[in-house]
Amino acid sequence: MQADRLFGLKDVPVPRLLRELREQGSVSSASTVLSVESKRQKLEALDREHVKGCTKCRLCEGRTNTVFGDGDADARLMFIGEGPGFDEDRTGVPFVGRAGQLLDKMIVAMGLDRKDTYICNIVKCRPPNNRDPAADEVVACTPYLHGQIRLVEPAVIVSLGAPASRLMLDTEESIGRLRGRFHDYRYTNAGGDMITIPLMPTYHPAYLLRSPQEKGKTWGDLQMVMQLLGLALPDRA
Ligand code: SF4
Repeated sequence: MQADRLFGLKDVPVPRLLRELREQGSVSSASTVLSVESKRQKLEALDREHVKGCTKCRLCEGRTNTVFGDGDADARLMFIGEGPGFDEDRTGVPFVGRAGQLLDKMIVAMGLDRKDTYICNIVKCRPPNNRDPAADEVVACTPYLHGQIRLVEPAVIVSLGAPASRLMLDTEESIGRLRGRFHDYRYTNAGGDMITIPLMPTYHPAYLLRSPQEKGKTWGDLQMVMQLLGLALPDRA
């Protein structure tokens, strides 16, 4: 089984909730108003003209590179973490260290390639010692994330870890209680329409490296995302 081989996980049942979510039509609710090329150009402009030279919060002081985002400007699946780490700060690319390599395996286990998805973080500069971003840093940086979501218009968002999940859902709930089900994420698209899309919180790959026993729960979360996207689930041996 491909997923077991690449991600080291066993298949888990998908809850009936998914059918209800699909019947609500939330996946297809996002109306694309921009061409793929226009999305790409606008993302590049947001990065080049606003993020690369940004000094809106103290995180600019210790960065080597800003870390804007990576992947398909027209992706149906967007992953959002809380902030860049050491390797990301050095390269300017999100999720390229050990946690990023595990995320790549998770994406392959879903039957996708990293370049099929869009990957970014809440804040675009590395917090010192990999601490969680502070509230004022998040407030300063989230307009860039909102711009990315508005341009990419993903069908589904997966938030990685507690900080990103809490920020996306504006809650103090633990990741253990948030994960395992879809939540509504609302934003206004480039055409001015209010869009509601499903957001699945799950564990951060860095946490899974420390707590591999939790991989099965994350694989269950990702299988719900796969089903929502119409991707083939692995055979149940
Ligand atoms: S973290 Fe965001 S708001 Fe703060 S300096 Fe970097 S790009 Fe600007």
